[in-house]
Amino acid sequence: MEQQLELLWQYQQVDMEVERFEREMRQSPNRQKLIKQRDFLMEQQNVVKRIEQEVAILSDRMEAIRDEITRLQSAVADLQSQVEQNPPQDVEEARKQIQAAQKLVNTISRYETELTKLRKDADLRDRHQHEARVRAAKTRAEFDQLKKVYDVEYKKQSVELERLRARVTEAAKNIAPEMLERYKVIKKHSIPPMTRLQGDRCGGCNMSLPAAVLGQVRSGSAAVECENCGRIIITQ
Ligand SMILES: [Zn+2]
Repeated sequence: MEQQLELLWQYQQVDMEVERFEREMRQSPNRQKLIKQRDFLMEQQNVVKRIEQEVAILSDRMEAIRDEITRLQSAVADLQSQVEQNPPQDVEEARKQIQAAQKLVNTISRYETELTKLRKDADLRDRHQHEARVRAAKTRAEFDQLKKVYDVEYKKQSVELERLRARVTEAAKNIAPEMLERYKVIKKHSIPPMTRLQGDRCGGCNMSLPAAVLGQVRSGSAAVECENCGRIIITQ
């Protein structure tokens, strides 16, 4: 058992090296920057999409108003030809006709004001959309350039990672499968999964160990797990 524990300890050294290396890979400044740029690109795409939807709604509204203005204009023309064909017979009738015409003209004018406002809104959105596209294109170019650099970096790192993983596989060779399994289970909650005794304490969580447990660890006859953190404890 003592030899198994020692082999497992050596295995852990290489395994932790892989862990460290993988962490370094994830934290690579180029990789982090690429992730940021990708997020920014997605954000700009969403901005463009949102504005497109808003402009589509504005366009529908403008079209409806234009139709309404055309309808009102032909109503004014109808009224005009009616008056020409049947001129008002008295002042009261004339006043009513003028009122009706005025009402139509006022409504047209209100709609035209709204149309102008909507057109301004749509133009502003078009500008914002254009700006978002320009920003996205600029970031896209930066992203593509950095991606090339990172791909080279990543390729190199992958070779090193493969080398380290091969060492882990090699280190596992003479370890009993059930020992490796225990190690992997512990690794899910405690890293590193193995620790050395520090005086009469667990080197992982620093808890004092009961005398019985201490005795077992020191004898090296079994893989003893800390009652507190679950790590396998071996002697100094
Ligand atoms: Zn512990």
